[in-house]
Amino acid sequence: MGSPVHRVSMEDTWSRQVHPDIESERHVQSFCVEELTNILDGGAQNTALRRKVESLIHSDPELSLKDNYFMTQNERYEAAIKKKFHIQMLAQRLGWSADSRELYYANRSLSGDLGLALQFIFQKALRSLGSEEQIAKWDPLCNKLQILATYAQTELGHGTYLQGLETEATYDAATQEFVVHSPTLTAIKWWPGDLGRSATHALVQAQLICSGAQQGMHAFIVPIRSLEDHSPLPGITVGDIGPKMDFDHSDNGFLQLDHVRVPRENMLSRFAQVLPDGTYIKLGTAKSNYLSMVVVRVDVLDPEAKVLDYQTQQQKLFPPLAKAYAFHFVAKSLLEFFHHSYSSILDRDFRLLPETSNIPGEMYPDI
Ligand SMILES: Cc1cc2nc3c(=O)[nH]c(=O)nc-3n(C[C@H](O)[C@H](O)[C@H](O)COP(=O)(O)OP(=O)(O)OC[C@H]3O[C@@H](n4cnc5c(N)ncnc54)[C@H](O)[C@@H]3O)c2cc1C
Repeated sequence: MGSPVHRVSMEDTWSRQVHPDIESERHVQSFCVEELTNILDGGAQNTALRRKVESLIHSDPELSLKDNYFMTQNERYEAAIKKKFHIQMLAQRLGWSADSRELYYANRSLSGDLGLALQFIFQKALRSLGSEEQIAKWDPLCNKLQILATYAQTELGHGTYLQGLETEATYDAATQEFVVHSPTLTAIKWWPGDLGRSATHALVQAQLICSGAQQGMHAFIVPIRSLEDHSPLPGITVGDIGPKMDFDHSDNGFLQLDHVRVPRENMLSRFAQVLPDGTYIKLGTAKSNYLSMVVVRVDVLDPEAKVLDYQTQQQKLFPPLAKAYAFHFVAKSLLEFFHHSYSSILDRDFRLLPETSNIPGEMYPDI
C-alpha cells in the first residue's frame, strides 16, 4: 500500500469548501434546519453537546479516519484497536461514563470504526442473563479491559433459527463442570466480532444437557485465550474468518470447542440454575434466555442545471430520505418500549416478553 501523505492537504481543502449549488439549496428550505436538527438529536442541548464532542473527535489526529480506504484489513484492525484504547483514555480523562451521551456521540462520529465493540454486547447479555453475583464478578473486569469478551451465538450452520444451535454444554456432577463441545462442523461458532484475534472470553450460547435431558439454549462464559500470553486454551480452535464485504476493522472469528470444561458458576443463572447434583431449576420461562438477543439488536454540475432539480433524482432521493426520518422516530419509540419491558422482565414479569421478542413461533430476531 502506498503512502497516503499528499492526500491530506487536498482533503483539508475540500472539507472547507461547499459547492455553490449545494449552498444555494440549503438556503431555500421551507423549514428551520436547526429546529429539525434539534428534534433529531432530542433537544437543543443534545445538539450542542453532540457538536462539542464531534469537534473534539474530528480535531484529534489519533482518531482520524482519513486513510481508512487505503488500509489493508490488518491495518484497519490495528487502527480500530488503537482508537478504542485512545477513546477509552479520553473518556477516563474527561469523566465520560460507559453509558454517557458523550461516549455515544464519540463512537457515532467515528462511524463505529472502533475495536472491541463486542465487549459492550457481552456486558448487555451478562446484565440480562447473569445473577447479581455473576454481574458483580465479570462486569468490572470488562470495564477495566482486564478481559476482552465476545458474544458467540451464530454457528456455521445456524443463524436465524436459534433452536437449531448444535453446541452442547453437558453437566458433569462429579466435577461440577460443564463440558462445552462443538459436535459437528456446522456447530462451529462463526461470525462473532472480536473473536478472531482479540477476545479472551466468549459468552457461548449452547444447548444445556443435564438431569438426563436437553434443557434448551443457555449462556456460558468460556475462557478461550490465556490471560498470560493470549494463546488459545486447551480444546479451543479459534481464528479470523477472513475478508468480508464490510467491517474490515473487526476480527469476526470462528470458534471450535473440543470438550472444554468450565465451572458450574459460568452458566448465566438469572433465569435458570443447575444445582451441584445436576438438578435443573427454571426461574424464568423457556424463552427467557432469548432476552440477550433482543437486547443486543437495536447509519459538479455546470451552472445550467442542478442534480437536485431533476425529477428522476428527486424520485430516487426523497423516498429513502423520508424513510430515514421515519426509521429514526420508530427506533426511538421502540427503544422506549423496550426499556420499559426490559425492567419488568428483570423483575420476573414476563408479560411483555413475547411482544419484545416480536417473533411468532420458534423464530427469534438476529442479534
Ligand atoms: C458483520 C457481522 C457481525 C456479526 N456478529 C456476530 C456476533 O458478534 N455474534 C454472533 O453470534 N453472530 C454474529 N453475526 C451473525 C448474525 O447474527 C447472523 O448472520 C444472523 O443471525 C443471520 O444468520 P445467518 O447469516 O445464518 O442467515 P440465515 O439464518 O441463513 O438467513 C438468511 C436469510 O434468510 C432469512 N430467513 C432465515 N430463516 C427464515 C425463515 N424461516 N423465514 C423467512 N426468512 C428467513 C433471513 O432473514 C435472512 O435474510 C454477525 C454477522 C455479521 C454479518
